[in-house]
Amino acid sequence: MKKINTAREKLDQLDSQLLDIIAERISIVRNIGELKAKKGMPVLDVHRERALLTRILEKADERDLSQHFISQIFRQMIRYGRSTQETILAPLTHESPVVQYQGSRGAFSWLAAHKYFSVRHADIRMTGSRTYQEAIDAVSADNAAYAVLPLENSLAGSFHEVIDLVSKSPCSIVGEEIIPIDLCLVALPGAEISDLQVVFSHPVILQQCARYLATLDGVQTRPHEDTAEAAAKVHKDGLKSQAAIASRHAAELSGLAILKEDITGVGADFTRFAIIAKQPVSVDGHLPAKTSLTLNLPNEAGVLASIVNAFGKRGINMGKLESRPSSDGTGLTRFYIELDENAENPGLKEAIDSVRQIARSLRVLGCYVDRARLESESDELLARAVDPDPDLSAVELQSLPGKTPTRKPASKKANYKFDSQPDGERSIVQVGKVCFGDGGFHVIAGPCAVETPTQLDIAARDTRDAGAVLLRGGVFKPRSSPYSFQGLGWEGLRLLREAGDKYGLPIVTEVMAPEQVGRMAESADMLQIGARNMQNFDLLREVGRTDRPILLKRGLMASIDEFLMAAEYIMAQGNFQVVLCERGIRTFETATRSTLDLSAVPVLRERTHLPICVDPSHAAGRRSLVAPLSRGARAVGADSIMVEIHPDPANALCDGPQALSGKDLAELIEELS
Ligand code: PEP
Ligand code: MN
Repeated sequence: MKKINTAREKLDQLDSQLLDIIAERISIVRNIGELKAKKGMPVLDVHRERALLTRILEKADERDLSQHFISQIFRQMIRYGRSTQETILAPLTHESPVVQYQGSRGAFSWLAAHKYFSVRHADIRMTGSRTYQEAIDAVSADNAAYAVLPLENSLAGSFHEVIDLVSKSPCSIVGEEIIPIDLCLVALPGAEISDLQVVFSHPVILQQCARYLATLDGVQTRPHEDTAEAAAKVHKDGLKSQAAIASRHAAELSGLAILKEDITGVGADFTRFAIIAKQPVSVDGHLPAKTSLTLNLPNEAGVLASIVNAFGKRGINMGKLESRPSSDGTGLTRFYIELDENAENPGLKEAIDSVRQIARSLRVLGCYVDRARLESESDELLARAVDPDPDLSAVELQSLPGKTPTRKPASKKANYKFDSQPDGERSIVQVGKVCFGDGGFHVIAGPCAVETPTQLDIAARDTRDAGAVLLRGGVFKPRSSPYSFQGLGWEGLRLLREAGDKYGLPIVTEVMAPEQVGRMAESADMLQIGARNMQNFDLLREVGRTDRPILLKRGLMASIDEFLMAAEYIMAQGNFQVVLCERGIRTFETATRSTLDLSAVPVLRERTHLPICVDPSHAAGRRSLVAPLSRGARAVGADSIMVEIHPDPANALCDGPQALSGKDLAELIEELS
């Protein structure tokens, strides 16, 4: 215990030092910002940022630190620095402003206000209002300098009421802030999901979580003014039958426990908030800016096209265009438009002048820093920071497969190219205790998709009992039809992790989008790139930056060269743990779902040191063919196979016809061993 305490004290000391260093770094960044402002230089200097991150990652590598986590930490640091510099070019007009947000402490508007104003070091006083209208009225009546109100959620869409209120008010949009929404189901400490009868939250939030809420049998939903209020109500009522959907922060503030985290379950969830003030501001030309406007158009053919054209032909992108029904009997349609341009830009001024000729009325609602662009443009470039050879030409790339690379091996990484090692040595990719490429023949098995806790539990048990070594299961499913079952999302991942832990099996699951990668890598032991994403280069780069092994499936129409190039994308980012999976390609043959290209296996063995897996299930599409193709895969030199199973194939939500039963799997593995 004494040793632990001493170690903890040391940690505390290091944390304080870290904070001091961060504070010093920010103050230097601020000085640089002031110099940049004097010289009229832009805040964004992506080339410098990129060089900085590359250097840091090299140093991290020397210290055996995970490049994935270090790059995340430094990206946040760079982001913080950029926001600090932005505040120098776009300062607040009030020194100690009153900021009005809708809702109560802990509401997402409150979090957004905090994020926006804390970096500006303003001595703010925050007050919550009951409604959006009240918040805007406070600004109109000079009772508050700013209001922070939600404009748009990445999943649920616009907050129409806010857009309408701002349009009709004398106020302007002077800034925007974006925050990730981590929605949790929160209830009294000790309450269980089975106790719940009613869930309260903001209506947009309830809509966002509809998919998760549908899984709670017999539980009703009730709209509430805001998430933090909903949490406060649950606390005040003191009933175990009640829950709220709110932020983690709101749960902490109101003394509630988190029953379930991250319940949105689909895609990235962000909300964009508008910072509203009485007077408009102008944005320094060195910052990416946006301009919002609202206009009324007559209901006539072609009028909208001429408006869109007026901006388009001047090269101005319209980031958002929304119509609002008119309720005032004028027969006009009101539009809300966001343009990716500074209001001071002469081209935009000209376009607005010409639009005024057509529109019945037009009002510029404000010009403000484009937060997404400020953050993402440079993130995208920063993302390339870890590319060890960004200048590799197309000619060089084409010459790579199977031949000696034409470029000089620049670093030790050249050894990890997919070409066969000179001594014919094969790479081993380890997942948990399983070593692909160690000369053994391993079986990955599990359901096509995670469907229910029971289905997964039986499938995982069958997988273990049969002697398979890795549990598969899709939670984000790439389906040909948007109406087919799309997977359980993050909830499915949680179930898969639980089942893997219960039966002692590492888990592999498909990641479909770059933004899913970080979170997925936290839970899954191996990440799968599906056939349909084999050439999604952003995704390949993103998984290449993780420290997770990757199961890369061959694209339906991909040549072996392209398949190897896809692997190269991953390895070029520093992740050499790639297992190649042949899963059938599309040919003229219709007797099977795809044509399993077994000849690819020996070809790959000649060309690469990477372990090779074969997926007979997706190739065949029929369970009767899975065993013979598995035997074939083994015979031609595959290191592993991946097979789909289901406890009740006839009722599987996905790929039932190709699913084996647990018994079939056990027999197959018995035969292969
Ligand atoms: C899968 O393995 O779940 C899958 C969808 O396979 P593929 O990408 O090969 O079609
Ligand atoms: Mn499947």
